[in-house]
Amino acid sequence: GTTGQHTMTKVSGKIIIFTAPSGSGKTTLAKHALSLFPQLSFSVSATTRSPREGEMDGRDYYFVSQEQFKSLIADHKLFEYQEVYTHQYYGTLKSELERIWSQDKVALFDIDVKGAFGIEQLKQKNVLTIYIKTSSLDVLRQRLVARHSDSEESIEQRLRRAGEELEYAKYFDYVITNDRLDLAKKMVEVLIEDFLQQPL
Ligand code: 5GP
Repeated sequence: GTTGQHTMTKVSGKIIIFTAPSGSGKTTLAKHALSLFPQLSFSVSATTRSPREGEMDGRDYYFVSQEQFKSLIADHKLFEYQEVYTHQYYGTLKSELERIWSQDKVALFDIDVKGAFGIEQLKQKNVLTIYIKTSSLDVLRQRLVARHSDSEESIEQRLRRAGEELEYAKYFDYVITNDRLDLAKKMVEVLIEDFLQQPL
């Protein structure tokens, strides 16, 4: 995929990043954090994929055309972006960061492993990166099968990709094995509570 440039090299407020291979439960844990800590605010990404049932423009994503996404890139409006799937672009808007920081809140990102890795490499101490994984690819396979939202071929594709993404786990601040959701939630709580207390 295409890797976005980081045109913002310094991060002025705080950011918490949840990243994971598909099916690891990252979104569930991110939502848990958002519901527990009012200081957090979800950074709504721009994407070229179409909305799924129940998704709302401006709440889940800003749904944009390929043309609009290209303009966002050209106009340097994105903090980072990735072509996560073929022809499907996802990017973090600088305007979201400005909005969230101007409210004295902490931005929460739910983004793919490559995008998160790029930000991690900025080595900013006001960025917390949390990588969510399952204990094995077999457990991940069972989750993807149970979710009934992917074809067999798509599951195999996601598992191959997960295998590659697992090699990146070591680069992030914390890795949480999410085999037991109740424990994973507690770990997320402890990490965020501590991070919120750190001075900027
Ligand atoms: P989905 O289509 O399932 O909502 O998201 C697909 C993947 O894209 C997920 O891993 C999600 O976290 C990631 N993603 C969502 N927004 C962004 C973004 O702004 N940047 C990057 N790099 N990945 C994103």
